[in-house]
Order: sequence, then structure tokens, then C-alpha cells
Amino acid sequence: EQLLQVRNLSVSVEDKPILHGIDLEVRPGETHVLMGPNGAGKSTLGYTIMGSPRYEVTGGEILFKGKQLLEETADQRAKDGIFLSFQNPLEVPGVSLRNFIRNAVEQRSGSRIKLWTFKKELEQAMEVLQMDPSYGDRDLNVGFSGGEKKKAEILQLLMLKPSLAILDETDSGLDVDAVRTVSKGVEEYQKDKKGALLIITHSTRILESLHVDKTHVLVNGKIVASGDASLVDEINEHGFERFLEA
Ligand code: ADP
Ligand code: MG
Ligand code: MG
Repeated sequence: EQLLQVRNLSVSVEDKPILHGIDLEVRPGETHVLMGPNGAGKSTLGYTIMGSPRYEVTGGEILFKGKQLLEETADQRAKDGIFLSFQNPLEVPGVSLRNFIRNAVEQRSGSRIKLWTFKKELEQAMEVLQMDPSYGDRDLNVGFSGGEKKKAEILQLLMLKPSLAILDETDSGLDVDAVRTVSKGVEEYQKDKKGALLIITHSTRILESLHVDKTHVLVNGKIVASGDASLVDEINEHGFERFLEA
């Protein structure tokens, strides 16, 4: 059975057509990589699946766990188990990282979580990401470095345990050590095989320690090629040139 079914999806932003007839199917627990040149529409696809109101679906449909997704708000989609890690995470003064995550976890489950249980789980996840527990007290992303913001995103991923996580260039702009830590966190998420991943990336470093099931190449709003993990290596070596000509 499929977790996510994107069928013939077309999307416009501010009346400008960006995605043209996208088909994509993801099974539970699978990892898919989405690559493509700048401006191809990768983020647009991520935001559209998450339900950002800026993105207007002009054709096609999206099914999630067999249900029509397009009528649902972004909030409902998050509760259903979709998670999007932002390319540029927002700073939220006045809300601590710990309270933000606790609130999100309770929203998602619809019930209160025991303070002690939450605290222990959060500390375990922070340890995986080599984050000092004191980060929990800090205002969400305020004054965080690029790497710390990305770690905070992965911390949310580990705590929320979505059934589909979309990571939009979570690795971009990070130094080698930060990429390794972020990738360790993603590996931890992958470990229990329950959550699927759609990883949007320009680099292959984050993929080195991850298991990849499928790779897709997006060019000019269309998926022009799909393959297995070896497609990542090919793009790494030869770039997108052969896909641009096609
Ligand atoms: P990618 O993530 O592959 O680099 P994007 O999805 O960000 O590509 O962008 C695809 C195209 O859509 C680009 O031409 C970009 O300028 C346009 N676009 C994306 N988001 C917006 C937006 N919020 N407002 C206007 N144009 C946008
Ligand atoms: Mg981009
Ligand atoms: Mg993008």
C-alpha cells in the first residue's frame, strides 16, 4: 500500500505555473531523494504537500494514507503525520524550543504528555544531535547558528515521529561536522522503519549513511527521471546536464 500518492499534480505560485503534472508514490518507511537545479520546483512540491496556502493546486490530486489531502489545512496535515523541515527555519521569540516541541507533540497526539516522559525523550534526542540540553530553554531559533537551526528541525522530527518527513535542503550551508550530526539524527529517524522520507538536497554528503530507495530528478516542474540510489552518484559526477537536454 502507498503512504503518499501524488497524481498528475500541477501547482501555480502567484498565477505562475511551477509544477506540471507531477507523479510520485511513496510507501511507508521508504526514503526518496529529490534532486534538481535551482528553481526547478522542489520546495514548491514540499510546501504543496505540507499545505502552504501560497501554493495553488491547478490540477491533479494528493492522497495520504488513502485520503484526499488537498482539502486539509496544514495543521490537519501535521496531525495526520506530515512534517516539513524548512529551508530557512523561523525565529520565534518568547517560545522556548522545549515548549514549542512539547506543544507540537501534544497537538499531534491529541493528548497531554507526561512532563517527565517528555523531558527524558527530549534529552535522548538532543544527545543524538549533540545539542546541549540548555538549548531547550532558549527561544526557538533565536540567535541560533545555521547549524543549530537545522539541528532544532531534526530534533522536532525525532520527537514528532511523523509518517512522512520532507527535508528541504536541511544540509545546505552546513559544515562537514554539522552535516554528519544532522545525518545521524535522520538515521535515527530511519532506524525504526516507520517513517518515510522525502529528502530534497543538492549534496550527497547527507545521503552517505542513509538508505535510499528511490531518486527523482525534477527539472522545470517535471520529474524527468527516477531511479535507485545510483542516480544520486551519477548526478554527483555529471550534474544535471543530460536531464536538461532531454
Ligand atoms: P527549488 O526549490 O527547486 O529551487 P522553488 O520551488 O523554490 O524551486 O521555486 C520554483 C519556482 O517558483 C522559481 O521560479 C521561484 O521563483 C518560484 N517561486 C517559488 N515560491 C515562490 C513564491 N512564494 N512567490 C513567487 N515565486 C515563487
Ligand atoms: Mg532553491
Ligand atoms: Mg528549494
